[in-house]
Amino acid sequence: MSPVASSPRSVDEHRAVVAALLTPMPAEDVPVGQARGRVLAADVVAGVALPSFDNSAMDGYAVRAAEVAGAPVELPVEADIPAGRTDVPPLRPGTTHRIMTGAPVPAGADAVVPVEQTDGGLDRVRLSAAPAPGAHIRRAGEDVRAGEVVLSAGTVLGAPQVGVAAAVGCETVPVRRRPRVLVLSTGSELVAPGTPLRPGQIYESNGPMLAAAVEDAGGSAELLRFVPDDVEQFLGRLRERLADGSVDLLLTSGGVSAGAYEVVKDAFTGRGVEFVKVAMQPGGPQGAGRLAELGGVGVVTLPGNPVSSHVSFEVFVRPALRAALGHPHPRRPVVTATLGERWSSPAGRRQFRRGVLDAVNGTVRELGGPASHLLGALARAECFVVVPEDVTDLPEGSRVETWLLDG
Ligand code: AMP
Ligand code: MG
Repeated sequence: MSPVASSPRSVDEHRAVVAALLTPMPAEDVPVGQARGRVLAADVVAGVALPSFDNSAMDGYAVRAAEVAGAPVELPVEADIPAGRTDVPPLRPGTTHRIMTGAPVPAGADAVVPVEQTDGGLDRVRLSAAPAPGAHIRRAGEDVRAGEVVLSAGTVLGAPQVGVAAAVGCETVPVRRRPRVLVLSTGSELVAPGTPLRPGQIYESNGPMLAAAVEDAGGSAELLRFVPDDVEQFLGRLRERLADGSVDLLLTSGGVSAGAYEVVKDAFTGRGVEFVKVAMQPGGPQGAGRLAELGGVGVVTLPGNPVSSHVSFEVFVRPALRAALGHPHPRRPVVTATLGERWSSPAGRRQFRRGVLDAVNGTVRELGGPASHLLGALARAECFVVVPEDVTDLPEGSRVETWLLDG
């Protein structure tokens, strides 16, 4: 009697199973200068307005515009106001102050004449152009008002966001703690780069690749040294590291398919991890669950083929990490592109094919091919093209869902 094949789990169902392994990360305060790439846990409210006082947009002379209306005009220079001066005297009628960019505009002045429109005099100055009232003055609060929300919870802090947080006076910002992800590869054929290869051996690449992917997604990765296909060594390494409960998610690669020596499957079966076939390609064999005897830590077991590993990370793990960080858009940006060639695709499986996108005409083409060992091609890809389960023939010109990878 042949075994009854259970129907595969859908991509969306497995994505939900993986997402449920992580809860929202708690908030922590970090110095603003170390906040790049972090996700805000709460709104940032401006402690000061931007600009916080009326200041000069130019190096020049602060004037009353009405007094310079008949330019050229010559006026005495009564004060010098560099940026940073805090005791600025008011501007008396019939006089000017020399003023630098960013310096406070004196009370009484309503315009700045740029130095280029003057003779640059120090005691008296000849002003050759009449400024409009308000010319070259940056008004307090015209960019940001005090008390306004300048950055909202869920924002990823890139350079401009770090800049504005510092500008409104934040010494620290509240961000989500980064999920701590332990990465462990398995395979008796694996050798660390830097060591000569014997026939049948390969360099271990999933570990560094997945650790990089975790960091890209906003997590904090710890890479354990890979283990051979040996259940005791595999469990031993994990028991040692997981004892202190400081890991949010364990990510393994390899050892989950249908062959013999499937170390991850052998070690975790019956211990809280469910091994399933997901209706996707690449990346069919998957596992996820909580390891009861290791503190209930969440675990996702990715297949070993490098492209399968990467694609499964993108489809299942990256959105889970980003959701736990409170990111408003956990998924990759998606565009609809035009297929520049004809494809066929297997029925019943969602395919994630690697492509390059011609951004000018919106056409996408495959790189390498659908096979899951083509890591060189993956490394040159710019996007995934998603072919739905029920689509088997894609004529050239088909409109296809395209996920934009980093760039
Ligand atoms: P497995 O899922 O363990 O059966 O591995 C499937 C394929 O992926 C095999 O060709 C392995 O040699 C390869 N593979 C598994 N783990 C890694 C890894 N960490 N680095 C590079 N290749 C790997
Ligand atoms: Mg293996």
